[in-house]
Parts: sequence; structure tokens; C-alpha cells
Amino acid sequence: MDSKKFEGFYKKTIKERQEILAKEFSLTEEEKKLLTTETNLPISNADKMIENVVGTYSLPFGVATNFVIDKKEYLIPFVLEEPSVVAAASNAAKLSNGFITKTDEPIMIGQIMITGTQNPEIVLKKILESKKEILKEAEKVDSVLTKFGGGPRDLKGEILNTPTGKIIELQLLVDVRDAMGANAINTMTEKITPIIEKISGGKALMRIISNLAIYRKAQAKTIWTKQKLEESTKGKIKGEEIIDRIIQAYEIAVSSPFRAATHNKGIMNGIDSLTIATGNDFRGVEAGIHSYAAYKEKGKYSPLTKYYKNENGDLVGEIELPITLATIGGTAKLNPMASLSLKILGVKNSKELASIAASVGLAQNFAALRAIVTTGIQAGHMKLHARALATQAGAKENEIEQVAEEMINSKEINQANAEKIIKKIRDKSLNN
Ligand code: NAD
Repeated sequence: MDSKKFEGFYKKTIKERQEILAKEFSLTEEEKKLLTTETNLPISNADKMIENVVGTYSLPFGVATNFVIDKKEYLIPFVLEEPSVVAAASNAAKLSNGFITKTDEPIMIGQIMITGTQNPEIVLKKILESKKEILKEAEKVDSVLTKFGGGPRDLKGEILNTPTGKIIELQLLVDVRDAMGANAINTMTEKITPIIEKISGGKALMRIISNLAIYRKAQAKTIWTKQKLEESTKGKIKGEEIIDRIIQAYEIAVSSPFRAATHNKGIMNGIDSLTIATGNDFRGVEAGIHSYAAYKEKGKYSPLTKYYKNENGDLVGEIELPITLATIGGTAKLNPMASLSLKILGVKNSKELASIAASVGLAQNFAALRAIVTTGIQAGHMKLHARALATQAGAKENEIEQVAEEMINSKEINQANAEKIIKKIRDKSLNN
């Protein structure tokens, strides 16, 4: 993909953007139609995805530009309702030196909780002695996964002390390749339960995947030079000053879980948008990432990015977090927009998608920090927010821009002012 074709993308009309996208990614007539029809999820597909379907629900589908990840250019589909997020990610990517990433193998954990054993420590030892046989049984479940190079890899265990006594926690580690893994793992844990119950003499209370995917992490790293940062403020703030402020903001997030929550929310603005665009399970991704934010610092909820200065005094940003995005499975195939997102991304496998998600999370977090410590977050948000308020206040299509602009100029961006301006515009046109 050639990112030059997407320069100034935001200045184009929707139709022009659709045409550029269609040309660059050789979209078929059917795919082009998806972009131009208001409802692109057929209701018959929706009915196969969840229960009690009565309709479908649309969200904006945009693309973030300027991303270079591991030397490859990407256009990144975002699906979300919040203004400024796509622009912020694209801008952060443009200011960066490109992202370098590293991803773990896609290993997920299935848990089996054994209760009612006489001597849990000895029983656990006995179970682990039969590891080979148990893994072999688990492997029988999913020959397709095995064919693609995945399958069960290990069985671990420990004793949990709970108010109702000791419980054996078993963890089945499975390489799920390009899937999220929940169905595959849940079936495997159910399959091996009879053997484990026989060895242990206990009962399996639960058999289910864990969303805390500590073995399936992605890392991304980039540099923002002081020169580019200074230029981005048109020289109003020194690059060194911006960098010092961002590092201080990061250090505050390390100390304050209240700040860490919002710091990580910034990361999720990008990751969730990509997760939804690709038809993935955003609850699973959220649960995994936030639990990791506490797990990695032994229970203290912490930021998932890190900032420091390199020897040139430029800003280095790093992110590390579990990413459980799939390029296969789930219900994504039923949503044509999810397939289109994967086509635009051009990813080979789930690991490549994870490296993109980590880079997007880092870019988004940097953008939020930079905005907060310089112009304030509202400046970027205001234009779209003002437009949304104007629409809510009843402005017609041809009045929205004027109402938004007058609100911004008056520094009073609220519904009452929007209504006042609409009235003024209409009174004026009546008098003309
Ligand atoms: P799945 O069962 O739909 O598809 C995965 C299967 O596809 C594999 O088991 C394998 O047989 C096959 N496959 C083909 N090519 C593959 C490749 N290259 N790599 C890997 N597998 C390949 O999906 P899943 O990932 O097992 O389950 C995901 C779904 O489970 C999601 O929709 C999620 O919402 C749901 N879920 C989540 C949870 C949770 O997060 N706690 C719990 C239950 C269900």
C-alpha cells in the first residue's frame, strides 16, 4: 500500500475517500457497495450472530493514516463513535519515526478448577505426571488447528487458597495460531476433564479460557524527535519541554491508578477501534489488557506504556500488552465490513495484527498525552463536538458548519448557545 495516496485524506469528500480506498485496495464492486450503503450488515447474518435480533446498529468506519510498522506501510480501519481519535492516531504516527514491534507466539490459557480432593499438593503432582497423556487427549479436539501448526503445548498447575478450601488450578497452554481461541480451548478443557477427574478423584468446577493472556503479548516501540515535536507546535513550545512534560505525565500514571485508568483508556481508543473494525471480541481484549495492567505490577493498576529520553534527548515510547486479536474464527466472517478491514490491513496472521494493535495503542496514548500537556484535550475535540452539538440542537445540514464555528469562536460550546445561533441564522434569513 502506498501511503502517499492518503496524504491530506481528511480534506477530501467522503466520495473521494471511497474512490481512493477502492483504487488502492482493488475493491470489488461488492466491496465498494459496502462502503456506500448505509446498512452493510445483512440482518440475516446478524440473526446468526446473536439472539433476539430486531435490527442492526451502525458506527462510523474510518481509516488512520501514516502508520509505518516494521517498515511496512498500513492503512488502519477504525470503528468508533468518538471524535478526534482517528485524527490523533494519524497525527501521532506521522510525527513518529515508525514503529518496531515484537510479538509472542499466540499461546492462550485454559483453566480447569478441581475441587474436593483429599490432598491437593499430592494430587496436583499426580496430574502433572500424566501431562503427556492429557495433552495428547486435548490434541484430538482440533485437527484443523494442529494442521495450521497450533495445538496444546503445556499443562501447569498450582494450589489456590480460597475461603472454601484448597482448589487445584490447572492451566492448559494452547497455541491458537490465528484464532482468538475461546471455542477451541473451552472444548479442549472439557475433553480432558474426565481423565483429570479420574486421576484426582475430585470434580472440575470450571473449565474455561482465561482472558489474561500473559503469553500472548505484543510490544511496540518508536521515537518522537524533539525537532518534530517542536515543529508540531509551530515552534511555540520547545521540543525538550514537550518531552519532559510527557515523561512527567507518564510518571504520574505510574503513581496514580486514577490517572493510569485514563492513560490506558487512551491506548484503548485505538485498540478497541481496530478490534471492532476487524470483528473481534472487544470484551475479551479489554478484559485481558486491563487485567494485565494490574497483573504486571503485582496487583497495582499501572500504565501499559513507558516513556523516556534516549541519548539524543528524543522521546522513546514503548508499549507491552496482551493482544488476543484473531484473523480467523469467531463471527467475523458474517460481517462483511470485518473482512474488508482485514483486506485493507493486508495482514498475514494474528501476530501481524497484534503488532499493528500495539503500535496503534502506543500512537493513540502518545497523542492524548501530547494534547493534554500542551493545548489540552478539548482543543482537538471541539470541532467535531461542536458539529455534533449543532446537529443535536436541530441545525440543518447547511447550517451545521456555521453553528459549530460560531460556537468555537464564542468559546461557548453548549446546546443552549447552538440553539441561540440557529435562531439567529434563521431570523436573519427570514429578514433577507
Ligand atoms: P472459532 O472456534 O470460531 O475458530 C477457531 C477455529 O478455526 C480453530 O479451532 C481451528 O479449528 C480453525 N482454524 C482454521 N484456520 C486456523 C488458523 N490459521 N489458526 C487457528 N485456527 C484456525 O474461534 P475461537 O477463536 O476458538 O473462539 C472465538 C470466539 O469465542 C469469539 O467469538 C469469542 O467471542 C467467543 N468466546 C469468548 C470467550 C471469552 O473470551 N472468555 C468465552 C467463550 C466464547
